[in-house]
Amino acid sequence: MIQKERVQPLNDKPVQDRDCVVYWMQASQRAEGNHALEFAIRRANERKKPVVVYFGLTDRFPEANARHYAFMLEGLKHTASSLKARDIRMVIRRTSPEQGVTHVARRADLVVVDRGYLHIQKAWRASAAERLDCPLIQVESDVVVPVETASPKEEYSAATFRPKIKKQWEHFLVPLNPTRPAVSSLDMDFESLDISDVGKTVAQLDVDQSVQPVADFHGGTSEANRRLDDFLKNRLDGYAESRNDPNQDALSNMSPYLHFGQISPLATALKVRQTNSPGVEAFLEELLVRRELSMNFVHYNPAYDAFAGLPDWAKKTLGKHEKDAREWLYSPKELENAQTHDPYWNAAQQEMVVRGKMHGYMRMYWGKKILEWSRTPEEAYQTALYLNNKYELDGRDPNGFTGVAWCFGKHDRPWAERPIFGNVRYMNANGLKRKFDADAYVQKIARLSTANS
Ligand code: FAD
Repeated sequence: MIQKERVQPLNDKPVQDRDCVVYWMQASQRAEGNHALEFAIRRANERKKPVVVYFGLTDRFPEANARHYAFMLEGLKHTASSLKARDIRMVIRRTSPEQGVTHVARRADLVVVDRGYLHIQKAWRASAAERLDCPLIQVESDVVVPVETASPKEEYSAATFRPKIKKQWEHFLVPLNPTRPAVSSLDMDFESLDISDVGKTVAQLDVDQSVQPVADFHGGTSEANRRLDDFLKNRLDGYAESRNDPNQDALSNMSPYLHFGQISPLATALKVRQTNSPGVEAFLEELLVRRELSMNFVHYNPAYDAFAGLPDWAKKTLGKHEKDAREWLYSPKELENAQTHDPYWNAAQQEMVVRGKMHGYMRMYWGKKILEWSRTPEEAYQTALYLNNKYELDGRDPNGFTGVAWCFGKHDRPWAERPIFGNVRYMNANGLKRKFDADAYVQKIARLSTANS
């Protein structure tokens, strides 16, 4: 089912009578569980025309490097062959997406696009809506409850957001059935980039090649589904108790796949619910409440990527303590090189650099310590975002901007005042040791680093 709240026309241009309907794939990079794709197929079937999927590959996506591109291209390669199996042609052009779509759309009656919340994703859609001479229709497929439906404003915290989104769940937690295209587009003649050799394609891109792909994670919907099934079978039952212990393999590892739209959050939530496992509630709290709260922050707060976007109380208290003496002070480079006195923090930083994904619990400690050990809170904020977006496979995501902001007080409440942090929540190494064997974590990461060196 495609609820009407998911669908938004982005311009009021007339429908044309040309060769096909184009789905401009940008955020939802998958052939299954994709409302935008299914919407495009249904519109094409009504018009007895084929659907063509277009993807614009730019080397200019902010902060994306070879690691991110390799993962994304592995996924796109898989998506292109899944689309082919559904008689749908995928056209990949090496161009800025919003410019490329105007070329492909010269043959389109109308264009459908999925939704993205970052500045650049909104700007691309606005620019294409203006340039195209046909309708551009946006269909939301990367959240369960569309952002404006969940809440009309920026939410203060999970506590204020949770009851609102929960009220809407049942209406949106319904399966999306695939529609068969009435007309195949496989024979349509379109120029397209060959991405069959992912390594070669990445090497040709003008992007930062110093951050290389990781051994642990490969992109693609089938890999995402394989990991999800394994999680449901072997780890969901223990998720609530074990998710804060980085020595246990308790998490789903869905975040890189969700980030690139290689798996549907709706399909994931439905599969999880079907299990009736004791872990369902804790997992849906993360996947639906926390993740969609991040979309709420990024959508409604234009300064989501800056210190300025923090709540006033947090900026004020951090400003008051900006000149407090710091026992430990590190430059952004020392932090990047994991050269601090703290073995737990260094291990977390290395986990991110080597594996492309730091454990969720360590991310909180990691961010808090950057605040504690940087010259100013503003510098700390920039350093945390820079490192997160550079090395995490799931970086550059609403969750990343929100996670970093959380370390500086976003979606949290004021706590007892203390040096440097003011009223912002503090974390220390003893807290880690109370929760899990922190030294075992250091050893685990040392082994991982050796295996990858
Ligand atoms: P699981 O625990 O299996 O959770 C399943 C899904 O729920 C995740 O894939 C994610 O989509 C969502 N989720 C889980 N925890 C959170 C959370 N705290 N907030 C919002 N959604 C959540 N997440 C990113 O996706 N990208 C980032 O760049 C990112 N950076 C972060 C930086 C900091 C400083 C902090 C504190 C958190 C950050 N997070 C980020 C949130 C969270 O740590 C990750 O989503 C999670 O660790 C991903 O691993 P997983 O998929 O195995 O998680």
